[in-house]
Amino acid sequence: MEIIDTNDPSLKSWIPVAQGSDFPIQNLPFGIFKLEDEHPRAGVAIGDFILDLYECQKEDFFGALLIDDSVFENYFLNDLIKLGKYKTRALRFAVSLLLREENQTLQNRKDVYKKFLHPQSEVEMLMPINPGDYTDFYSSIAHATNVGKMFRPDNPLLPNWKHLPVGYHGRCSSIVVSGTEIRRPKGQIVLKDQTDPVYSETKELDFELEMAFITHEGKMQGLHITTEEADDFIFGMVIFNDWSARDIQRWEYVPLGPFLSKSFASSISPWVVTLDALEPFRCEGEKQIPEVLNYLKFTGKKNIDINLEVLIQPEFAETTVVSKSNYKYLYWNMAQQLAHQTINGCNIRSADIYASGTISGEDRTSFGSMLELTWRGTNPIIMSSGNERKFIDDYDTVIMKAWSEKDGVRIGFGEVSGKILPALKD
Ligand code: MN
Repeated sequence: MEIIDTNDPSLKSWIPVAQGSDFPIQNLPFGIFKLEDEHPRAGVAIGDFILDLYECQKEDFFGALLIDDSVFENYFLNDLIKLGKYKTRALRFAVSLLLREENQTLQNRKDVYKKFLHPQSEVEMLMPINPGDYTDFYSSIAHATNVGKMFRPDNPLLPNWKHLPVGYHGRCSSIVVSGTEIRRPKGQIVLKDQTDPVYSETKELDFELEMAFITHEGKMQGLHITTEEADDFIFGMVIFNDWSARDIQRWEYVPLGPFLSKSFASSISPWVVTLDALEPFRCEGEKQIPEVLNYLKFTGKKNIDINLEVLIQPEFAETTVVSKSNYKYLYWNMAQQLAHQTINGCNIRSADIYASGTISGEDRTSFGSMLELTWRGTNPIIMSSGNERKFIDDYDTVIMKAWSEKDGVRIGFGEVSGKILPALKD
């Protein structure tokens, strides 16, 4: 079975899919949804609907794949992802067949819109995965250079940056699904012209525009994954907002890197778009000079063309688009990130999450954080309402969107949004 079968631009579904929908039959992303009074289930997005994989399983539509029912009636996609690349690919193919206009299996059933398809507007989307580990990389050269310039004007990129994909191990307990409200964090900050810290709410709350990939079960501990094998261990991708408190970060990050300035929350989009669905959008990345060590070399197109957008929606004013960027701007690709992550023999697990780092382009309109967009608050953004923003205010909702588009096919990720609540009083 070829991936191309499911990605063919000429495929049509018997379910009406509006022009410009994120979820045509060529996409088929996986997620976990909840109907009232039902156990959470795995589903696939198609147009404005969700195909209920548990109901399909009960009718034996995926019988040949020998998957246990519990995989589909589940709080998370972890067990589904643990089936591995070939079985999940076969499952997506089986779903594609069921939804094609020429397939009669499901479309002629009287109960089709009652049992097998649910309007997305009527269900609650839950966290798609229960991540066991989370890494955040720092793979955009424009972002690393921008941040470097603010702190070291003469020497923005540190000597290791072009030799390895810099990253750190983050906190997975506080990763939440889109729509979850985020409480403004508190911690130690050093006020202007002071040397000692105070305990305060953050005054520099920021977003980071990132994408993240989610892995299949890897190899045994002690072994490593090569750049050539990497795709076999990547299930799919989500949009990732790595909320950051810049003033807390500035005081705490030396010498071991970010800690409480990041761990209070990160938000992800609910639909996991498979790497297979993104195949048609592969592209070349920037040429890497100096040459990288052998284990980081790769062949073929490893970057992906994914449009990215960030919007800020104040509580009582118009929404403003504050950034337009693209995933293809990354200097280090997923294959290199995964090869580097495992080169020391570190094992990876099903449903681990690996975020890209903030994705900025060359010019200001494509910067992926307020830190860069307002240059540390010195050049505020003017909102549609005329108000200024240096960082994120209470009751602002930050929305990120992502989509690839080519040959009349749009592979969308939906969105990740999060509203900021005021810090708790104490
Ligand atoms: Mn980050």
